[in-house]
Amino acid sequence: MNKKIFSFEFFPPQTPEGVEKLAATRKQLGLLKPEFFSVTFGAGGSTQARTLETVQQIKAEGYNAAPHLSCVGSTRENVSAMLNTYKAMGIKRIVALRGDLPSGMATTGEFQYANELVSFIRAQTGDHFHIEVAAYPEFHPQARSAHDDILNFKRKVAAGANSAITQYFYNADSYFYFVDECRKLGVTIPIVPGIMPIVKFTQLARFSDACGAEIPRWMRRTLEGYGDDSASVQAFGQDVVCALCERLLAGGAPGLHFYTLNQAAPSQAIWQRLGLPR
Ligand SMILES: Cc1cc2nc3c(=O)[nH]c(=O)nc-3n(C[C@H](O)[C@H](O)[C@H](O)COP(=O)(O)OP(=O)(O)OC[C@H]3O[C@@H](n4cnc5c(N)ncnc54)[C@H](O)[C@@H]3O)c2cc1C
Repeated sequence: MNKKIFSFEFFPPQTPEGVEKLAATRKQLGLLKPEFFSVTFGAGGSTQARTLETVQQIKAEGYNAAPHLSCVGSTRENVSAMLNTYKAMGIKRIVALRGDLPSGMATTGEFQYANELVSFIRAQTGDHFHIEVAAYPEFHPQARSAHDDILNFKRKVAAGANSAITQYFYNADSYFYFVDECRKLGVTIPIVPGIMPIVKFTQLARFSDACGAEIPRWMRRTLEGYGDDSASVQAFGQDVVCALCERLLAGGAPGLHFYTLNQAAPSQAIWQRLGLPR
């Protein structure tokens, strides 16, 4: 059996306190010996410098860092410069995305879709980078149809992606269906489920509305019912997410990628309960 890949995702902090907190989070999650820590990147380059700084900090601590790189609103020159910087730093893995332009930012730049970015990275840097791309078991909200979305995912793989990380979801069947459909089309790369621990219901509902990840009705109603009782929200969330992870791993998922929101405890608790390796 292939070794399962576990990883954690951070966003680049905006304040000195945030930087300190993330350093403490990394220290705790580093004990679990993940394959890599990834760092998000604001589309249109809004977090470019902070993403780079966070990646440098991760590298300096001896962990593998995987910067996200989104292409919408960017130019070939700019992307090329970032690739050169990451290559010179010894970065080996990149999460290649289209991104979403912040509202009010009109230009689409020189890339329209993530498959163009993947092709560009391959053309510029050959096989230097392991390229991760995004996958959507519940389908991307802008896709014309579910089948179209899978064909577009296949385009990214044909362009040279090595593996994929999914948007988060709470319905394991959507993941298994998506993977089966990909396999039928000859797409064989590992598709690692993205896992969102449940900490605050209002925050989760806001993210889910924005990215099209469904919170099933039974979960939404239960979480709503807890109101401000955060202990109950978290206990219920942990039960649900642990059961999801168990089912995914037992069903053949090649690993798990945790959306940490820069907090160690929720992912750590799930990890321990699942008895994952250290
Ligand atoms: C694991 C993960 C990490 C993420 N990290 C970040 C981040 O760091 N920063 C950030 O800004 N966002 C991030 N996102 C969000 C992501 O940028 C958005 O979901 C964005 O809307 C789509 O990006 P994509 O790379 O999936 O785009 P694409 O693969 O380009 O797909 C976007 C849409 O266009 C369609 N499409 C794709 N190719 C074509 C084509 N050739 N012709 C017609 N239609 C096409 C697809 O079906 C889909 O509907 C992340 C998402 C995931 C799942």
